[in-house]
Amino acid sequence: MPADPRLLIAAFRAQKLLENYGITRPTEIVLEDMAWAMGIQVTSAPLAGAEAHLVRVGDTGTITLSDAITETGRRRFALAHELGHWELHRDLSQVFFCSEADMRQYQHSGPEIEANTFASELLLPKIMIDAASLKAEPDLEIIRGWSQMFNVSFTSAAVRYAGITRQPVMVVFSDRNQVRWWRRNDERLAGLWFEADQPLGAGSIAADLKNNPRQSGVMSPVDWSAWFPHLEDKGEEVFECAVPLHPYQTVLSLLWLPSRY
Ligand SMILES: [Zn+2]
Repeated sequence: MPADPRLLIAAFRAQKLLENYGITRPTEIVLEDMAWAMGIQVTSAPLAGAEAHLVRVGDTGTITLSDAITETGRRRFALAHELGHWELHRDLSQVFFCSEADMRQYQHSGPEIEANTFASELLLPKIMIDAASLKAEPDLEIIRGWSQMFNVSFTSAAVRYAGITRQPVMVVFSDRNQVRWWRRNDERLAGLWFEADQPLGAGSIAADLKNNPRQSGVMSPVDWSAWFPHLEDKGEEVFECAVPLHPYQTVLSLLWLPSRY
């Protein structure tokens, strides 16, 4: 659970919205219908440097999604994020212009992380998630299953998984052999973090995936120094499972520190 009260409120508002529309199953989370019922028109258009744009005029609004987004899951996340601004930030601004970086903002506080927390809860409501999968050993198949069941991107499902599983995990997105962004289970892995654009350690599976594709999707032990050379090694075991994410040329690693369970 997010500890920041503003994030708890963001998640609660998404739960209330689903409740108000009587939505109880993943297939019923049809964001365009919800937007329409809320007085918001949804369109798409070229948006230079942004994923989505929200304009509010009184009780009506328009959400414009970038027509460069071709993936359904990414489009759904962008729309859910803007619905979050609509629900949470009426007093803050009447216009939001949100970039791809805003959509993955989880490290700091502020309206973007609140909108992302709202979007995660709206798209993958905790109440619809099988409780057994939150206790089970971490596995990318859980994330793949969520991404199919809730019609979200693998990335959205992975971020959600790290946020709510009871397992001590981090998901790390790297490209061109550098860590680009990450999300951790805050409750279990407080104190673990990465430097900005930290190079992938030679012992990480992510760094070796091109040469060794058979490692893809296999949970294996790695050295502490492969991921945390900047943090003191207290002899904790680290496991990594990595997969390439197409078409973005990114590698997603699921890191697991079982001793912190
Ligand atoms: Zn935003």
